[in-house]
Amino acid sequence: MKPEAIGYVTQVHCRGCGERFPVFTSSADTDMTTNGLVSLTRTDNKNIAIVMSLQGESLQLVQNRVGLPYRVSEATYTHHPVESGVSFQEFRKSYQLPKASYACIFCSGVADVTATESVPEFEAHGKIEVLA
Ligand SMILES: [Zn+2]
Repeated sequence: MKPEAIGYVTQVHCRGCGERFPVFTSSADTDMTTNGLVSLTRTDNKNIAIVMSLQGESLQLVQNRVGLPYRVSEATYTHHPVESGVSFQEFRKSYQLPKASYACIFCSGVADVTATESVPEFEAHGKIEVLA
């Protein structure tokens, strides 16, 4: 399987502390726990780590199991309001994809997406570790 098939890397910027760090996003699903793949980012060198979650394991439990300096950055999606009763054509024109923001791994503040990279693009300057 090509790495592109697994996911891509999102670069984010924290509104609170100003840190920038990458987050790996699985392309299979926006909810990583459903396919067992959990991504973490190291707070020391900002490498990405990928770990398989155990059956029924939450993101918080994965983070506790892996331990520092690995931290999970959970995504939240802001949906734009939809006006009721408009035609589908009008709806389609005004529809915007949900906006993703991430929890900062340093201060737990809100981090906004600044760029996305393919796995090979990220690996040109960063490292993705696979943890058992
Ligand atoms: Zn922060």
